[in-house]
Amino acid sequence: MASVGMPEYLERRVAAQRGGRMDLRSFDRPGLAVVLADAIEADPGTARRTFQDLWQNGADDISGLTSVRRSIRKRLAAMAHVSRLETDRVLRSADGTTKFLWRLDDGLVIESVLIPDGDRLTLCMSTQVGCAMGCTFCLTGDMGLERHLTAAEIALQPLTVQRTLPPGRRISNLVLMGMGEPLHNLDALVVALRICLDDFGLKMSHRRITVSTVGLVPKMAELAAALPVNLAVSLNATTEEQRRAIMPITRRWSMAELLDACRTFPLPSGKRITFEMVLFAGFNDSLEDAERLRVLLTGIPAKVNLIPYNENPGRPSLRRPSDAVVRAYQDHLVRHGTSCSVRTTRGLDISAACGQLGRRVA
Ligand code: SF4
Repeated sequence: MASVGMPEYLERRVAAQRGGRMDLRSFDRPGLAVVLADAIEADPGTARRTFQDLWQNGADDISGLTSVRRSIRKRLAAMAHVSRLETDRVLRSADGTTKFLWRLDDGLVIESVLIPDGDRLTLCMSTQVGCAMGCTFCLTGDMGLERHLTAAEIALQPLTVQRTLPPGRRISNLVLMGMGEPLHNLDALVVALRICLDDFGLKMSHRRITVSTVGLVPKMAELAAALPVNLAVSLNATTEEQRRAIMPITRRWSMAELLDACRTFPLPSGKRITFEMVLFAGFNDSLEDAERLRVLLTGIPAKVNLIPYNENPGRPSLRRPSDAVVRAYQDHLVRHGTSCSVRTTRGLDISAACGQLGRRVA
């Protein structure tokens, strides 16, 4: 394949696939246009129709690219393939939450969780197999990082789940809060989200996509420069010492540095950063914590989401606070002008709740 005029990041991606045939699902639309022009001198219209067939018209192999000429399909068949996600298991909770386990080409398994809530249908997606961040309360953290997901493996999660839904029912929101730290796999994440946002792709609204991070500070600005999506920060503590005890990332970037990055994060008007606080009984659930949090968030367009910890036999020392304690924490923030909600626990019976995504299936 020639490579005249191909940007370096695409060169790298094509080169990585040269041993086999390149995956047409691993490119956003502009990337696919460049790659197809380079490989088979395809015009931009052919690239757009190929992209639309892949992400909107149900094509799961080269022969399914019915919007492009047969001669093009023939040339593509010799040099490219179309990846898919293989469903390993689907688990349905009594509360309507559904957990999808996907088996990847190398046999590894990842998870997505579909959460219905009134008119909303939110898909919680994974970005890595395992996670390198090692948050002490999280089952995914126990796995360590096995590997990053590709852009295709990330964007295929909403595509494949959407296909299981009845006509007229659409995934309304995407949250990148499943297995993995999304900003640790930023290049693939950005390509995947461009596919999700594209009018010829999954046609999602940027207002309904939220990327969650534990605080990879330099990557936050890179994300903002690449995409106008919502940001959630998994904070979980109100002092440096407290945060270091449960989130090792704090040793690399302090909470103060993280909050400074939030202060300068270029938010579109009307948007706020969501701060997630997993609350543990007797650790970070006091009114003093609530007051410290209020002060820490001064000057940041913020809303707080309290997540009472989901108890797990693997973490006997961590307990869930009582509802009364959680309510008092919330009341304190709301009374002092900080927007604060409490996340309802969903999918507990199928191990799909927050912090439960890991090797255990149910
Ligand atoms: S909470 Fe998120 S960042 Fe921390 S270990 Fe779990 S998956 Fe990784």
